[in-house]
Amino acid sequence: MRDLFRVRRMWRPPGELKRRYDVVIVGGGSHGLATAYYLVRNHGVKSVAVLEQSYIGSGAAGRNTTIIRSNYRTPEGAAFYQRSVELYEGLGADLDFNLLFSQQGHLTLAHSERALVTMTERAEVNQLLGIDSRLIGNAEISKLCPELDLSDRPTWPVLGALYHPPGGIIRHDAVVWGLARGADRGGVEIHPYTKVTGIDQHAGRVTGVRTTRGDIECDTVVSATAGWSTLVCDLAGVRLPITTHILQACVTEPVKPFLDVVIVSSQMHVYISQTDRGEFLIGAEIEPYTTYRGTGTFPFLEASAAHVLELFPQLERARVLRSWTGLCDLSPDYSPILGKTGVEGFHVSAGWGTYGFKAAPVVGETMAQLVATGRTPDLIAPFELERFHTDTLVSELAAAAVSH
Ligand SMILES: Cc1cc2nc3c(=O)[nH]c(=O)nc-3n(C[C@H](O)[C@H](O)[C@H](O)COP(=O)(O)OP(=O)(O)OC[C@H]3O[C@@H](n4cnc5c(N)ncnc54)[C@H](O)[C@@H]3O)c2cc1C
Repeated sequence: MRDLFRVRRMWRPPGELKRRYDVVIVGGGSHGLATAYYLVRNHGVKSVAVLEQSYIGSGAAGRNTTIIRSNYRTPEGAAFYQRSVELYEGLGADLDFNLLFSQQGHLTLAHSERALVTMTERAEVNQLLGIDSRLIGNAEISKLCPELDLSDRPTWPVLGALYHPPGGIIRHDAVVWGLARGADRGGVEIHPYTKVTGIDQHAGRVTGVRTTRGDIECDTVVSATAGWSTLVCDLAGVRLPITTHILQACVTEPVKPFLDVVIVSSQMHVYISQTDRGEFLIGAEIEPYTTYRGTGTFPFLEASAAHVLELFPQLERARVLRSWTGLCDLSPDYSPILGKTGVEGFHVSAGWGTYGFKAAPVVGETMAQLVATGRTPDLIAPFELERFHTDTLVSELAAAAVSH
């Protein structure tokens, strides 16, 4: 009986920081933890420390709206995110932890002829890669989501949608906890409240990190610091073409479930899903100014509410329960920056904007492969930092802004 009430730790309490590890991962969000997890799982690399300046999952990993999908615009992007969806599909079993992954389907609404053309192109790219994604008309939308207002009443009536059946939502805390537990069981050390304040180098090679708990020697450093990426990469003298913005989201009080598909309207800058608890989870586009402030704004609530009511007028009386912000690291082409930098042994996962949570498993898998083998996996080669010098950008603007 006593056992029933005993609290079981998900991972070991942090001990003393060692003076040396083979690999130091900066950032205890979904990407840092996934990289640590796949390092032990796929490559048997055990001398790994994850250093997190706050608590595990305190960054965007614990603040996002959990949308997972792979219907991107470019062949490079779609193939990369498709691998992530595949990994997510098996991750719960892999970690032996229920991640509440609900592949309920994802609808991106078109409110103009131009949007229909762009979505047709996206669907074609997706289908060539074997991704389930197609343009549908209002009759099919109405079957998938009878509550959506498809009349002429809204300011921008719905003309069709890009339908992506494997898209959906997942429990973000569970992903973070499951990955942390999996990495810990493999021997990785997880150190919260340990901020990296310097990155040491010798002859163009990384040799260690300085932290608020002392200095550490290591052969490899991976920065998985999302919204803080430019600050951490500055410590290594690596400049990233990234700006940091806040993104806001809110939930309503719980309502009897009626929405079992993710609805996105890029034109109205709003998206909505219903959580397992019945709350409507509502998000928008990033704030246009750069900042690290975590303060929410009234215009976000006002605009999001107005736009949601265009789609679902029956939510008129639903009250907003809480809202929050998170940091987003935006690259010029809306694609990530992944892999090697100019400093040998210093690797980066950045440029995640508003869409990086869905990439956590594929980032973990590929970054772990890079660290273990020294070779850049094909899947992430198009996303190297070098592309900004060789003018080989991977523009995902048409499929990444607002769409999450
Ligand atoms: C409101 C909102 C909604 C979103 N919705 C979606 C969505 O629906 N789908 C989707 O795919 N993506 C979404 N995103 C984006 C997604 O959450 C991020 O791109 C992704 O979580 C970034 O990877 P991460 O989890 O590793 O980052 P984070 O969780 O931010 O991890 C970075 C960590 O690095 C730590 N750190 C920073 N500096 C240091 C240092 N010097 N030393 C030690 N540690 C440091 C931070 O404290 C932080 O914990 C959303 C983001 C927000 C804010």
